[in-house]
Amino acid sequence: MFKNVIEHIKSHFPKGFIPLHAPVFVGNEKKYLNECIDSTFVSSVGKFVDRFEVDMKAITGAKSVVATMNGTAALHIALHVLGVGVEDEVITQPLTFVATCNAIKYTGATPIFVDVDLDTMGMSPKSLSAFLEQNCELKKGQCFNKTTGKIIKACVPMHTFGFPCAIQEIVAICNVWNIEVVEDAAESLGSWVGNQHTGTFGKVGIFSFNGNKIVTAGGGGCVVTDDVELGKKLKHLTTTAKEPHAWAYRHEVLGFNYRMPNINAALICAQLECLPQFLEQKRILATAYKAFFETQEMSFKWEQEGTKANFWLNTLLLKDAAEKTTFLEATNKNGVMTRPIWDLMTSLPMYQNTLNVSIPNAAYLADRIVNIPSSVVPIT
Ligand SMILES: *Cc1c(COP(=O)(O)O)cnc(C)c1O
Repeated sequence: MFKNVIEHIKSHFPKGFIPLHAPVFVGNEKKYLNECIDSTFVSSVGKFVDRFEVDMKAITGAKSVVATMNGTAALHIALHVLGVGVEDEVITQPLTFVATCNAIKYTGATPIFVDVDLDTMGMSPKSLSAFLEQNCELKKGQCFNKTTGKIIKACVPMHTFGFPCAIQEIVAICNVWNIEVVEDAAESLGSWVGNQHTGTFGKVGIFSFNGNKIVTAGGGGCVVTDDVELGKKLKHLTTTAKEPHAWAYRHEVLGFNYRMPNINAALICAQLECLPQFLEQKRILATAYKAFFETQEMSFKWEQEGTKANFWLNTLLLKDAAEKTTFLEATNKNGVMTRPIWDLMTSLPMYQNTLNVSIPNAAYLADRIVNIPSSVVPIT
């Protein structure tokens, strides 16, 4: 089964086991790591942290960037700084990596799940707006869930596998209902909607630089925002909220040690230099996959008109759950690493769909989506 597909995937990679997504170090990684070690500034401050924040401003166009130790911490602090807490609810999508929901839960808030769109695999503006119309009311400028009596304070859409979701429509709906948008752009560095980078549409956006992402810090993340004052607050809160002073240690509010160490920043600075080249190579691979899967009459996911995907993880939509299992078995048995999309968040013990919002598209995709090898192959 799927012999042609396995052979085609193998044709793009060096011989041997083919991972789903492996990091590639062909730039200044070792040089910057050595510089970092020689400087002795390997920990919570250093020039690479500052440089990383400047580089990310240039890449995304965001006015303020704050480095964090990972993407999950970035999500948590983004929700925290917007005042999300135990009394609140946060809307998100059931088809996402668990970190999205976990970060909501860390604040004490309750996640609410609305459906995704079949094309983008991200939050559906239609489902979001239907949920709000049917269940919520605006009182004193705040969005109340009439069933639970709680305030819906934030909405966290996610750009699945680097394919931009309908973020402009989502932001427009949330503006009407006075809901803050925290954009989970963990997977979408290098993905654009028109001429605006993903992660910069909401009040706050976050990125991840985990080992499996398009570029890596080993572990790392960041928060981005155009609100410079909020950016300063985020920097303060993520760096233990120490009051500025020449030598004294004093803290007026609850702070977090969510800092990205300088040694990780050294790695990501070198990786960011390679991003344009990685994006180009990933697009070449995705284009070749697209042409091949057309000949196989298989459904290969592509970017929506007016958007640019980073093609972080290439994605196939199979016919049904049975074909998905057959595909995963055949490929993994033959040294081609493939993975199914995540189980629905609503199927996890921690996250039940308590409000019974109908999520047929998310269920459809969860049964059928797989990712195929997507690493950048270094040009030698
Ligand atoms: C990777 C990822 C995160 C979390 O990032 P970490 O750096 O691993 O903590 C959050 N959301 C999504 C959608 C992700 O893919």
